[in-house]
Amino acid sequence: MTERWREAARCRDEGLVLFFPREQHEDEADADYREVVHRHTEFPASFCRRCPVREECFALSMKKRATEGVFGGVNQVIRQRWLKAGRKWRCQADGCGKTIDPFTLLSDPDIDRCEEHRA
Ligand code: SF4
Ligand SMILES: [Zn+2]
Repeated sequence: MTERWREAARCRDEGLVLFFPREQHEDEADADYREVVHRHTEFPASFCRRCPVREECFALSMKKRATEGVFGGVNQVIRQRWLKAGRKWRCQADGCGKTIDPFTLLSDPDIDRCEEHRA
C-alpha cells in the first residue's frame, strides 16, 4: 500500500538494505550488541533525524508491529522492547493522540505527551 507521506521520505532513493538489516540481533547479551546498536540505530537514526515524515514512518511501524527494520530512527530491538512493555507512543493528552517524535522517545521512553502538550 502506497501512502502519500512516503513520497517525502528521505530514504526513498536509498537501498532498503540500510533500513532492513538482514542480521537478527535481539539478544542484548550478544557480544556484538553494542556494535549492532551503533550500526542499526545510530547511523540510521542520524539519517532519519532529518526526514520530514519520521513520525508517520514510526507510527506505521508500531501499528504494524514491524519485526524488522529501522523506522523513524528506531530499530527493531528497541521497537520490540517498547511493544512488549506496552509503551505509549501516542500523546496521552485528552483528544490528541498525535504520534510522539521518535527521537524524543529514544532519549526518554517514558514521555507520554507530544511536544505541544508538554508543559
Ligand atoms: S524516518 Fe527514516 S526510515 Fe522512515 S521514511 Fe524517513 S528516512 Fe525513511
Ligand atoms: Zn498531544
